[in-house]
Amino acid sequence: MNNGEATRCPICPHACVIPEGGTGYCGVRVNKNGCIQSDTYGVVSGIALDPIEKKPLRRFCEGSMILSIGGYGCNLRCPFCQNSHIAAITGADCPVQSAPRDTHASLAYTPTSSAYTHTSSAHSHASSAHSHASIADREATHDLPLILPAHLAAMAQKYVPKGNIGVAYTYNEPLINYEYLLDCAKAVREAGLKNVLVTNGLINPKPLEALLPFIDAMNIDLKGFTEDFYAGLAGYPVNKKSPGGVTPEGVILEGLTPGGLIPKGEASLSFLDTVKNTIVHAQKNCHIEVTTLIIPNENETHAEPIARWLAEISPEIPYHISRFFPRHNYADKQSTPPQTLRDLAQTARKYLKYVYTGNL
Ligand code: SF4
Repeated sequence: MNNGEATRCPICPHACVIPEGGTGYCGVRVNKNGCIQSDTYGVVSGIALDPIEKKPLRRFCEGSMILSIGGYGCNLRCPFCQNSHIAAITGADCPVQSAPRDTHASLAYTPTSSAYTHTSSAHSHASSAHSHASIADREATHDLPLILPAHLAAMAQKYVPKGNIGVAYTYNEPLINYEYLLDCAKAVREAGLKNVLVTNGLINPKPLEALLPFIDAMNIDLKGFTEDFYAGLAGYPVNKKSPGGVTPEGVILEGLTPGGLIPKGEASLSFLDTVKNTIVHAQKNCHIEVTTLIIPNENETHAEPIARWLAEISPEIPYHISRFFPRHNYADKQSTPPQTLRDLAQTARKYLKYVYTGNL
């Protein structure tokens, strides 16, 4: 812990160096007394009992339902975001920014050589750090529901008679709320239920390693297959530094003082390679399916190389080729023509056994 000092967040390849009291690029991770933690622990933007196929997962517990929960913020800036009402909330616009920080969970996941460990004994799933008084404070301040891990697990159990198999972390990017995700996944697993993660896959290898034992299935976005494409989504051009001082190629620029997991001068993974690493390692640990949203005139040509690469891992990986609808900064664009999706799916089937078109 570096009290009062800028600290590097270990969660994703943005590698934000966050000053004391500051917030990372995702808008929800803060530096509190030198400890990087989520500022949205338990804050929920939406919760619903969804068919598992809606995640989308087509070859995992088919026909079941899953309690689906989302928060706020994202570590990408996709101009075509389909959930910008919750994902694009960041910085000063984030409704949790003004939260009284002394009421937050004092989770302090500290990178060690082998795993993430609690540096504080003050937290459990029921969380003594989250007193009833603090929950009341949060709800009064933000008028938002606050759902703690034990409560979420109990809710998930309540819906088992309606076909529920567990909890899906979805809607916004769940990985930026890492401590909450990990605690919920443990509580849900202890309740005998399953955890499903719907994610952009932008997580560094070490936090991924600590999370995977609790995850049963993932749908991972592979949004494109070039560094340039991911650089655009990350919000800065290739060869320009991120807010954390790391280029999309994973090069820490001179003159910075990296902290946390990435020693000065050592390259991290690029954005694309981070997502590919997540897919490769997740596939060894749980059921995975992969999704590409096809944006007209932007990434149609990426679908075939993606399918070919996935087949090298396993031709059994289900691949979803999804239709874009005009949203967010691309509100004036055309939807993806259905025939484009069918043609791309046909091509992808040369490599993969299970290819699906989505949003048609
Ligand atoms: S954008 Fe990534 S590195 Fe930066 S604070 Fe958020 S999770 Fe951490």
